[in-house]
Amino acid sequence: MLIDIHTHKPSQYKSIKSLHFPNEYENLSDASTAISIGIHPWWAEVEHSEKFEKLFEQGVPPSVVAIGECGIDRVRGAAIEVQKTIFHRQVQLASTFNLPVIVHQVKGISDVLHEIKQFPYTVFVFHGYLGNPEQTLQLLKHNVFFSFGEGLIDYPGKYQKIIDLIPVEKILFETDNGQSNLKSIFQAYTQLKSREANEVELIVEKSACRIFNLESYGMG
Ligand SMILES: [Zn+2]
Repeated sequence: MLIDIHTHKPSQYKSIKSLHFPNEYENLSDASTAISIGIHPWWAEVEHSEKFEKLFEQGVPPSVVAIGECGIDRVRGAAIEVQKTIFHRQVQLASTFNLPVIVHQVKGISDVLHEIKQFPYTVFVFHGYLGNPEQTLQLLKHNVFFSFGEGLIDYPGKYQKIIDLIPVEKILFETDNGQSNLKSIFQAYTQLKSREANEVELIVEKSACRIFNLESYGMG
């Protein structure tokens, strides 16, 4: 079974819906699907962080299986020091509640690595991943997973090297805000990796269920 681990849209697949805090917070109450919630670096504000932490005062809110997307964007968004603080606080929260973190990063891999090293037991999922081979090798030493989206279809050439480097056991798939179907993204991957589709599907499903603890959503 294919699982869409990061989408902002209704999905025909089993999926994890990503909500931005605080704007989409009200959607949390009528959640019938698994959810990730976080403060995006584009809209990072300290007061949002305080409110966000209050959400977890009674424990993990229902349906929440991950924190994010959150992270570091050095091209766009709040001042970098604010982004770092807000990201750190969310990682801390994830660590406290043993939740994985869905990471958005643009030119911020070293900032994210700084957090990864501080929280070796927390799982970090890089969404829409596209890094160079050196960065990828560095990340592979840690508790990190790599989620691929429609970039695989649009620019397969950019991905070949990192697809070769990353074991199937460390990858996931997502549609994010894009137009592409999850199945097409998956097929683009199996072609680049030259691996048998059924085998890949099974491995990736297992990883997703384990990382996000999805059994209770009928996905395990
Ligand atoms: Zn997203």
